[in-house]
Amino acid sequence: MSGHLKVLIVGAGLSGLAIAQGLKKNGIDYVVFDKESSPRDRNWGVTIAWSHPFLAQLLPEELFERLSECQPDPELNSKQAGCEGVLIRDGATGDTIASPPFPGVRRLNIQKTRKIWSKDINVKFGKTVSNIELTPDGVTAQFEDGTSESGSVLVGADGGGSWVRKWLLADQATPQVMPYIFLNFPMRFTAEQALQMDQMMHPIVDVGVHPKSMYIGVFLLDKPDLHDPTTWIFYILATWPKTVTPSEENADMVDELRKRAKDWADPYKSAVEWIPEDVKAKAVPFRIWGPPSSGWNNQSGKVTLAGDAAHSMTFHRGQGANNAIRDSERFVNAMLKVKGGEMSLSEAVSEYDEDVIARGSREVEISRIQTEAFHDHANFLESPVVKMGIKPVATVTNADGEQTA
Ligand SMILES: Cc1cc2nc3c(=O)[nH]c(=O)nc-3n(C[C@H](O)[C@H](O)[C@H](O)COP(=O)(O)OP(=O)(O)OC[C@H]3O[C@@H](n4cnc5c(N)ncnc54)[C@H](O)[C@@H]3O)c2cc1C
Repeated sequence: MSGHLKVLIVGAGLSGLAIAQGLKKNGIDYVVFDKESSPRDRNWGVTIAWSHPFLAQLLPEELFERLSECQPDPELNSKQAGCEGVLIRDGATGDTIASPPFPGVRRLNIQKTRKIWSKDINVKFGKTVSNIELTPDGVTAQFEDGTSESGSVLVGADGGGSWVRKWLLADQATPQVMPYIFLNFPMRFTAEQALQMDQMMHPIVDVGVHPKSMYIGVFLLDKPDLHDPTTWIFYILATWPKTVTPSEENADMVDELRKRAKDWADPYKSAVEWIPEDVKAKAVPFRIWGPPSSGWNNQSGKVTLAGDAAHSMTFHRGQGANNAIRDSERFVNAMLKVKGGEMSLSEAVSEYDEDVIARGSREVEISRIQTEAFHDHANFLESPVVKMGIKPVATVTNADGEQTA
């Protein structure tokens, strides 16, 4: 690379915005592009655990201090509330199976977070990247609207269905479809039900594994008005092995969930019974993708990936966002080495890729094992989340969760 260092970031999700914030904080030129022109309707929460210190490095102090505003319940302090961990129960009895602790753990509502992290960031919305051209000085991204932008390096932070990944890896970029029905949908309850649910469920993560090969999690998504429980939004995640035909998959699956949840214990049983009649939900495609061991050709450091684009894992151990933030911190550090003359762009991006590929492929595989375990009640105690908790993969040697340190 010669001259001015400029980073093109494709995707304004958690990873793209965390990279942008970190580059801005360190005075490195960047621009973010996102295909959306308005926020998408799908929303959920993520459990932020071991990635907290990386967020502290990436975000300006003022935004780091505002993390609680990104939470479903802005007033929840997991330490003060004595709920620093996640809760896994037997779905049939409601008894605790495991409650892995994690100091400082918190939930973030991803749409609230994206809104707050976009603050003072140079994001161009309505820009769908449709071609990448390598130039002697760097890289040019072309967009569907006919515009283009050039920089030194492009990072694809464009999510699980990444276009940039396809550009880098062609057929090898195709995700694997997991053989499970996956439901993710929000709802409001009556005031009385909402207050009762708030009391019954663990405020961070409350998930159940049922002997009949089924997973349900009940979560808080938002409390728009802390004093009015009718405004509170909850959501359910549910998975079970796929047996229906593809046409049935397109149908509303809430009635099917109602049937399947009858022999569950609380809080899952009530959460499903209280779903308002007009709530409909289709199964969501459940895809994973891990990088091949050969990684990708980063074109002399000009194109790379971060977040779900680099490693798209299942949510069952809650690691996707933590890894996305770790990637962001690693990528910003790589750019600092280039800026400081410590490494060439090619060296710095290759060092970055090595970590992302090794960590990402192991974590995707662990997430696959964890998903299977949530549908295998008899062997659940052997699963990664019981052995490793919600700690990062770097502290273990293998997918069984045996600790190295
Ligand atoms: C139900 C659910 C629960 C989860 N729970 C947890 C959890 O508890 N803990 C945890 O750590 N993780 C969790 N995750 C994973 C976590 O949400 C993701 O890992 C994280 O949000 C990924 O962020 P990202 O920025 O990489 O991708 P995304 O958030 O998908 O962002 C990608 C962005 O790229 C844009 N884009 C896509 N294509 C293009 C294009 N061609 N041109 C321009 N822009 C484009 C999109 O519009 C989007 O804004 C969960 C995921 C799900 C689905």
